[in-house]
Amino acid sequence: MSNNSVQIVAPSGEHTFILNEEVLKNLLTRDDVKDCGVVLVSVAGAYRKGKSFLLDFFLRYLDYTYNQGNGDGKWLGVAEQSLEGFSWEGGSDRHTTGIHLWSQPFKATLENGEKVVILLMDTQGTFDSESTVKDNATVFALSTMLSSVLIYNLSQNIEEDDLQHLELFMDYGCVAMDKIEGKPFQKLLFLVRDWSYPYDHKYGIQGGKELLEKRLQIKDGQHEELQKLRKYIRRCFEECTCFLMPHPGLKVATDPKFKGKLSDIQPEFLESLEELVPMVLAPENLVAKTINEQKVKARDLLNYFTSYIEIFNSEKLPEPTTILQATAEANNRSAMSEASDIYKTLMEEICGGSKPYIQPDMLDKENWKVMNKALHSFDSKKKMGGIEMSATFRSELVKELEEMYTQLAAHNEGKNVYRILGTPIVFLTIMIL
Ligand code: GDP
Ligand code: MG
Repeated sequence: MSNNSVQIVAPSGEHTFILNEEVLKNLLTRDDVKDCGVVLVSVAGAYRKGKSFLLDFFLRYLDYTYNQGNGDGKWLGVAEQSLEGFSWEGGSDRHTTGIHLWSQPFKATLENGEKVVILLMDTQGTFDSESTVKDNATVFALSTMLSSVLIYNLSQNIEEDDLQHLELFMDYGCVAMDKIEGKPFQKLLFLVRDWSYPYDHKYGIQGGKELLEKRLQIKDGQHEELQKLRKYIRRCFEECTCFLMPHPGLKVATDPKFKGKLSDIQPEFLESLEELVPMVLAPENLVAKTINEQKVKARDLLNYFTSYIEIFNSEKLPEPTTILQATAEANNRSAMSEASDIYKTLMEEICGGSKPYIQPDMLDKENWKVMNKALHSFDSKKKMGGIEMSATFRSELVKELEEMYTQLAAHNEGKNVYRILGTPIVFLTIMIL
């Protein structure tokens, strides 16, 4: 299979978005992927600021580290190789619209032994002149809410505006923090491109930390909203850092024939890449997505995508409480689908297509046991949204399992040769033969 970027969220006019559910489902519910944890690295920010270009270096690192298992550190590639993957382009028009994922999930094992898949997410150029506030908010919201590592790609500096774009999430974070365990988001990395004051703050993570410290300082006389925003950025993310990238050189920035060859890129940019990329993607630095301190599995992501798209497509910008509600629902729905999967798998072993007929009272007993196991799985998950919400989902689950049982029982009856053949005479004939 060739790997490419797949569009999973596309604008559909009228400031709404459609979710390409089929594609997303193929990616997230593959047998070898669906039960893995997820490291979702997303790059967001204004258009034409080198997001896709950067992601292609991420791809190189991932391919090198997780597909080839090489450890000699030469993942950047060779001098004359062009840079491929997510499409990046010169010119001033937007290139990426909506949200794209790389079609190949990279498999890794965290230090605690947990199996994860690493997914890369490229987003529409947000905050540009063509998009409305709402379009921006939708794409940015999906990146923030769904990723475990949000790379906020900024040009030249961290400005007040850049911080303000985070406000919706900080408001959400405020509301969420009372209702969930742990912090709402994992890692935020401000990535400043074309940093041109290395004498004030050095390129890389150290200089980035100093700059961020300055920008997030709460000062007397600062507007109350701004103070609140600054306080919450740190509180809402488990980790919040900043990295200062040097300018990649004029060929990268202005030459229309530039194809991404390393030999055309300034060495200090490449050095910074060598510091930055492993910081995000080396096995020991991977950050898996959690919600309410629960690991989010690949297949759960599908529920979160669906819920969030739905509320962001509703007319106005959703309130933080609405986002919280959607999160809680997706959270319950994930617990529900896991329980229902347990039921299906266990019942398959008892009375699946290839299994012989089983006496109805035996089947009833087995169903009882399996149903209890499935419900126990649902009950033992830490869920958001309170007892009332989980009770609603639990009864929906019971109904679903009962319906499945009715079908299984009917199917089992279909295997009953005595009944199919009907009359005792036929039965006798068979016995004699
Ligand atoms: P995106 O819209 O943010 O995804 O931007 P692209 O990755 O498509 O890149 C847009 C243009 O910026 C391309 O011509 C790249 O060569 C160039 N570019 C990539 N990285 C940088 C950078 O760090 N600084 C500057 N000035 N240009 C860059
Ligand atoms: Mg792009």
